[in-house]
Amino acid sequence: PGLPWVAVVTGGNRGIGLEICRQLASSGVMVVLTARDEKRGAEAVSILGSLGLSNVVFHQLDISDPSSAVRLADFVKEKFGRLDILVNNAAIAGTISEVGNPETFRQEVAGMDLVEKIGRIRKHVREPYKQAEECLRTNYHGTKAVTKALLPLLHSSSHGRIVNISSRYGLLRFFSGEELKQELNDIDNLSEQRLDELSELFLRDFKDGQLARRGWPTEGGFIAYKVSKAIMNAYSRILAKEHPSLCVNCVHPGFAQTDMRFQAGDLTVEEGARGALMMALAPKGGMTGGFLNLTEHAPFM
Ligand code: NDP
Repeated sequence: PGLPWVAVVTGGNRGIGLEICRQLASSGVMVVLTARDEKRGAEAVSILGSLGLSNVVFHQLDISDPSSAVRLADFVKEKFGRLDILVNNAAIAGTISEVGNPETFRQEVAGMDLVEKIGRIRKHVREPYKQAEECLRTNYHGTKAVTKALLPLLHSSSHGRIVNISSRYGLLRFFSGEELKQELNDIDNLSEQRLDELSELFLRDFKDGQLARRGWPTEGGFIAYKVSKAIMNAYSRILAKEHPSLCVNCVHPGFAQTDMRFQAGDLTVEEGARGALMMALAPKGGMTGGFLNLTEHAPFM
């Protein structure tokens, strides 16, 4: 009591992650802003410092490097002895962009509605196998490694909570096969080991050009991204079940103006961070194992 809450935000150097850091720090939370690149991270901390937010510290974290997650946990343990909020925000799209100059692209799509914009973006990205593999390694395995390293510290808090920044692209409606959809939704019978297996099976099917075989998403692009977020969602639900004293939830931020969406989203980062803030600062005993679509509770399907 009386101590400020301590939060770790992954991928805090730009986009929605930086905005989550700003809003948390503005709410009086002590923020550990992490980034894989020391220089970009330090710059972000100084941007927040110039806004008068001195309750932000930097620590390096590459979520796809488990040893980096362990070093972060040691730092948080030594400095604060506990962690109240973990925001798993860092992720990649798993694509190669061919939009050219993002500013020109932004002007090109400015008058379009959201569906048209997304369609145009899709035409400008390629999804080679290497990027798909990196996408699963970062968005699912990386998020999991960071979470595991920080779980003991979240249990040392009286109100530990995990906010997994997901995407509506991770909803099971994008999967083409009913059986796989049911399996990923059947949290009582799903294990972390099975999720690891599914991640491997997906990559094999992707490589073999056999996405329909097992019922993976087949249409609309961002295939590996969709699978990585769907598997991360399932992991989030397993965690919520196994750690009932924590609040563990997923949030779709909306289509926000960040580099990941070539600055062409229809929401500002401020709007995109709203759901994450709601979950991060929710009172003890609130929702767990759930999904927020922006700020509304929604099904994983
Ligand atoms: P950006 O691409 O703008 O930022 C991504 C952040 O993640 C960057 O800080 C990046 O660091 C970091 N990151 C990527 N890989 C790693 C890694 N291995 N280790 C540490 N940090 C890493 O994306 P957004 O801000 O748009 O996305 C934030 C979250 O919101 C993501 O989870 C995304 O999937 C989700 N989302 C975003 C939507 C949108 O419309 N913007 C829509 C739906 C979901 P670096 O600068 O070093 O690359």
